[in-house]
Amino acid sequence: MEKVEKKLREEAKRLLADKKVDVIVGYEAGTLPLTATPVFITTPEEADKLVWNAFCQHNLAKYVHDLISAHKDSQKRLKPDDRKRKVVGVVTKGCTSRSLVIHLQERQYERLDISILGVPCTGYVDRKALAAKLGGEDILEGSLDGANLKIKTAGGEKTIPVKDVLAENCVTCRFNNPVISDLMLGEPAPAMNPAAEYADVDAFEKLTPEERWAYFTKEMAKCIRCAACRQACPSCYCRVCFAEQSMPQWVGISEDPSDTQVFQFMRMYHMVGRCVDCGSCISVCPMGVDLRKFLKKLDKDCFVLFNQRAGEKIDFPAPLQDQRMDDKEEFIYNPGGGGH
Ligand code: SF4
Ligand code: SF4
Ligand code: SF4
Repeated sequence: MEKVEKKLREEAKRLLADKKVDVIVGYEAGTLPLTATPVFITTPEEADKLVWNAFCQHNLAKYVHDLISAHKDSQKRLKPDDRKRKVVGVVTKGCTSRSLVIHLQERQYERLDISILGVPCTGYVDRKALAAKLGGEDILEGSLDGANLKIKTAGGEKTIPVKDVLAENCVTCRFNNPVISDLMLGEPAPAMNPAAEYADVDAFEKLTPEERWAYFTKEMAKCIRCAACRQACPSCYCRVCFAEQSMPQWVGISEDPSDTQVFQFMRMYHMVGRCVDCGSCISVCPMGVDLRKFLKKLDKDCFVLFNQRAGEKIDFPAPLQDQRMDDKEEFIYNPGGGGH
């Protein structure tokens, strides 16, 4: 990873010095031990802040979308000839690359608007799993030593293998190397364990409808409607979310159980063919709601029905963007039978 980090800094400097990009979205060391946080680099001198390690958790495609959208808004009042393109460079692991593909499929920006610095990924540390391993003790000092975390807490020093605290989505990640890039910084990372990707969903499908509903209502009862999951998600970019529309009002904004369930149902259905299993929504959820089970169920159904995985291929329309004239639409209830 050190080699990738070194190359990343070199390439970032070059791109900024040559004015090939206006900004690079990447990661810098966080203020707490064993964390990394998003950073926006605009000068070659700042490029040495960039890091690439097992704490780089965020899906940075979220910021790419926001930066380009804000820039396009700022250009609207200019004459077409005076408008300038803003090129955003982005440090891109597998899940981020798939989110970029989704943005491109959905015409949120053009390929020329982004410069993709691909990084091989072996997964990120799940902070909640790490906290559980430490019995909730605060981390006073910490460092990454090869494949292990060396941690000092009030209770003493501990060594924890990174593989024991990887995020669930990373353990079974199918696309840990970027699906598109302009520059790949390092050799591809070894495969994770995609064969187990749907193990949790398979077990869930074996439950009765009543048991599944009971699980859903139990998880949703934890939700406090803080909307952090939506804010972190690169596929949630509507200017006004349906959950906050007042004309018409699709769903109340309270913590009423049925409002919460409708909010989550609708958000999840908006994720069909658009969720890249980056885990951003799960990692920011303060209540530990098991969103992944339901998102992966939809992901599996989308693959089984349409043979598509979100953001896998840029030249393939996403399922919700595509209409086939020979689609029998068997899901439509048609009591009279015959044609639709
Ligand atoms: S989901 Fe895959 S690409 Fe994304 S951080 Fe985890 S291992 Fe890396
Ligand atoms: S729904 Fe969650 S896991 Fe899926 S793309 Fe959005 S943030 Fe990532
Ligand atoms: S982040 Fe968690 S608590 Fe907040 S709205 Fe999403 S599911 Fe609910």
